[in-house]
Amino acid sequence: MTKSSTPGLATRSIHGHRFKDAHGSPHLPVYDTTTFAFNSTADLLDVIDGRKPGSLYTRYGLNPSIFALEETLAGLEGAEMAWSFCSGMAAETALFLTHGREGMVCIGDAYGGTLELLASQLPLLGIKTHLILGSELDQLDALLAAGAKLVFFETPTNPTLELLDIRAISAKAHPYGARVVVDNTFASPVNQRPLELGADFVIHSATKYLGGHSDLTAGALMGSKELLMPVWNWRKNLGSMIGPATASLLARSLRTLVVRVRQQNESAQRIAEAMTRHPKVTRVFYPGLASFPGHGLAKNQMYGFGGMLSIEVAGGGEDATRVADRLKLFALAPSLGGAESLVTQPCTTTHHGLTPEERARRGISDTMLRLSVGLEDPEDLIADLEQALR
Ligand code: PLP
Repeated sequence: MTKSSTPGLATRSIHGHRFKDAHGSPHLPVYDTTTFAFNSTADLLDVIDGRKPGSLYTRYGLNPSIFALEETLAGLEGAEMAWSFCSGMAAETALFLTHGREGMVCIGDAYGGTLELLASQLPLLGIKTHLILGSELDQLDALLAAGAKLVFFETPTNPTLELLDIRAISAKAHPYGARVVVDNTFASPVNQRPLELGADFVIHSATKYLGGHSDLTAGALMGSKELLMPVWNWRKNLGSMIGPATASLLARSLRTLVVRVRQQNESAQRIAEAMTRHPKVTRVFYPGLASFPGHGLAKNQMYGFGGMLSIEVAGGGEDATRVADRLKLFALAPSLGGAESLVTQPCTTTHHGLTPEERARRGISDTMLRLSVGLEDPEDLIADLEQALR
């Protein structure tokens, strides 16, 4: 298919795989099967040796519910290939063990589990990991020159919504033979497609926007066939495969990804604007606000500004806690990307494990609340915030 005839994102999210169910099911069925039978040893060897595609063993990912899902996932990020996993952390672990062993750099803030893996666990295996802030990008050249071969970052970051320049970082890393991986969980492929901007891998906690209903835990990794094939072996032997039931549920969710995320973008923009006008809100972090420092870069590398925003409330940490506790529609829960709106106070949840000094260094104040905007009517969400702030 020529590029100009490539179907749009919403079409790809629904018709993104070639698998046809023998009974004509319009959605991807659950093949709740651990192994698949062959007519002959020759047929079995064709699949084992990779001469023919086919189903074989579910932990290998050779199961129709899984490989059809992966074809759709690849299409959404414009990737040659995708692997699915039982969680976002499983996807990161398999990628880091495959391509990060010579040394890794993590730029900016990241999900707490990722930071723990990089700062405390991979070093136990002798893997050198370096964590720098977005404001310390001048250190990247030296770390690449010293041999780091995988550069990881989220953009927008959690919870300050800091924007990192995917094109610029990729252009810096590639001359050193390093690969770039973007955690695209916050943006989703609707709002940002890092491979188009020069990144080598995209990773997702599919638990969030891709799943979209807070009812599944999964991960995804997208990239070129050359770079993804070695990850397959690690996934196989770590046993971090997605289950067929989750694969089918995730494929179901992807069919509404585009409409969900576009609505969440629109609602988040309205809420962010309302919060900038609120006397008890001292700061709003949202890439869609013209006054936000990352706005220009966001316009440059994103298709939409996303459903995540953070606010700082007047007073101290206890005042922010009281606001979070008084919200009725925003549920107090440390996740994001679902149909229901969620609130967290990062200093008590996602960044609770950091010292107050480290949180301050990362710009995460005790008065900050992070909002994941769901699919409720935005007027109701604004009214909920207003009553809680009151
Ligand atoms: N990446 C980001 C940005 C996340 O927010 C999370 C989880 O919150 C992860 C990765 C890990 O994903 P999972 O919980 O699916 O393992």
